[in-house]
Amino acid sequence: MEFRDLKRQYAVCKEQMDAAMQEICGQTSFISGAKVKELEECLAAYVGRKHCITCASGTDALVLPLKALGIGTGDAVFVPDFTFFASGECVAAVEATPIFVDVEADTYNMDPDSLWAAVEAVKQEGVLTPKAVIAVDLFGQPMNYDAIYKIASASNLLIIEDAAQGFGGKILAGNGHTDDRMACTLGDISATSFFPTKPLGCYGDGGAVFTDDDEVAALIRSYAVHGKGSNKYDNVRIGMNSRLDTLQAAVLMVKLDLLGKELEDINRIADWYFTYLQPAKDLSAKNGKGLVFLPRINRGYYSSWAQFVIQLSDEEMRDKVKNALQESGIPAMIYYPKPMHEQEAFAGTWSAVADNPVTERLCKTVLALPMHPYLTEAEVQQIAETVAAAVI
Ligand SMILES: *Cc1c(COP(=O)(O)O)cnc(C)c1O
Repeated sequence: MEFRDLKRQYAVCKEQMDAAMQEICGQTSFISGAKVKELEECLAAYVGRKHCITCASGTDALVLPLKALGIGTGDAVFVPDFTFFASGECVAAVEATPIFVDVEADTYNMDPDSLWAAVEAVKQEGVLTPKAVIAVDLFGQPMNYDAIYKIASASNLLIIEDAAQGFGGKILAGNGHTDDRMACTLGDISATSFFPTKPLGCYGDGGAVFTDDDEVAALIRSYAVHGKGSNKYDNVRIGMNSRLDTLQAAVLMVKLDLLGKELEDINRIADWYFTYLQPAKDLSAKNGKGLVFLPRINRGYYSSWAQFVIQLSDEEMRDKVKNALQESGIPAMIYYPKPMHEQEAFAGTWSAVADNPVTERLCKTVLALPMHPYLTEAEVQQIAETVAAAVI
């Protein structure tokens, strides 16, 4: 069994994919061009945002907005402590200071109360200026934007959405909103990744930034191509070389066509997981040996299910379940084994100081099960039975 089965996906779209890639090879135009422009227009229309600027990776898609917003030395940017390294790395890369904030135990997303407390603490200390929040839509579920917008507007913070795992997710209409709000429209600026195993993945590295602001969009386009002015050989600022390959744009056009059905399928697969893991949850609760916690999707939220992450009662039980799965040929992964504030890269800095008990517990208890749109019901059943046998 594969953790995320890209082979089955390729089999489904092989004909279109091979033709799309061959077309680009025939044109021998490999950087930028009409295909990239077409993709940017399609992506902007898909999420409902004015501008989409593609770039070389999801990490660059986070660095570029920070540069465009002029965030740097002396600025505090609030980042969840439980996320992929790049969510905090981008902040340090522009020489601002990431402040790591605890997360919710059930949704895995940033905890609004912890954010509020962290902002207050930074203000009270008076050394750094609170500037922005990296709002991560972890494992595919948008974070609680209504709550963080309240905190952000009270403290004048910009929200940069890290939807690397969240593309295709949304907050459904309701709560005063007449339309669904798509991931990549939820921040002042939003970023996503096209790393192959993300909900919308290409065949290499890639990313995109989304914004409604013309000026910010123009700045990001400049930073992404060597700080270009009127053209590539007129350089008005120090930028980067961060473009999406034309081949990747062609791959993504084919994948974008599949995405609607894949999201439907993966949400059905998540339902199977909830159904088939319930007996393990019930039994383990009854005999008290090992608890199985299932992820929570907030009411009115729709996840793109980049990962299906359960929690076990403790580290020992988590490793036991992981080994039992492995012995049955089922790959399981630990996302994430270490709080951001404990990463060596941040040692000795402000960022290393954090007291985030939920994150610390999650790092010891989480286990990501195989998750992709091509899992069969029998496979989900087999995975759930293996988990049950290990915890009971
Ligand atoms: C994958 C990921 C990124 C970085 O994306 P790359 O394309 O690998 O650079 C950033 N944030 C999160 C939450 C991610 O999962």
